[in-house]
Amino acid sequence: MQIYTYPLGPLQTNSYLVVNEETKQGIIIDAGMNPAVLIKKASDYNVEGILLTHAHFDHMGGVEEIRKAVNAPVYVHSVEQSFIQNPELNLSSNWSMTGQGIKGKPAENEYKDGDLLELAGMKIIVLETPGHTPGSVSLLIGKHIFTGDALFQGSIGRTDFPGGSFTQLKKSIFTQLFTLHDETVVYPGHGLTTTIGKEKKENPFLV
Ligand SMILES: [Zn+2]
Ligand SMILES: [Zn+2]
Repeated sequence: MQIYTYPLGPLQTNSYLVVNEETKQGIIIDAGMNPAVLIKKASDYNVEGILLTHAHFDHMGGVEEIRKAVNAPVYVHSVEQSFIQNPELNLSSNWSMTGQGIKGKPAENEYKDGDLLELAGMKIIVLETPGHTPGSVSLLIGKHIFTGDALFQGSIGRTDFPGGSFTQLKKSIFTQLFTLHDETVVYPGHGLTTTIGKEKKENPFLV
């Protein structure tokens, strides 16, 4: 498994292209704005799904462009279908650079806690990690966890947006993420990779 990271758009949101180099299959995790560079690389692979950790505009602003280019279905947590289509909820209405705000088409697939997806020859486990948003998920592939805006290197997601809850986010991290193996590599929605063990020891918001 190979992971390519593309920090995209005004908030440098990490969009990940996760591929199997032998079979040339892959998936995309999160769809930042201005995704041309990601789309170019993704054209070398057969992309089987576009998986959103949550539906804030910086994670889904590029979803229509990517969906059209790679012709793959989109996955989101059921409670965030409405975020994709609602600029107030996906926060794009607060950003002048998004014009009238971003309204995406509904995702083809909805996931919930404990779902096991088999895409591109990978087994992907869906873990609900609400708190930053009510439908935030983290996606576990072997010893790699994609945490969206739940957990960052040395930080955690903001909880002052609609539907956010600090108590809930802390609970999500302790029950869903800190119960994984310490060596599990964390791929956050912004910033650098880290590990579960390191964050358990050093994250100032969680010690
Ligand atoms: Zn967010
Ligand atoms: Zn974000």
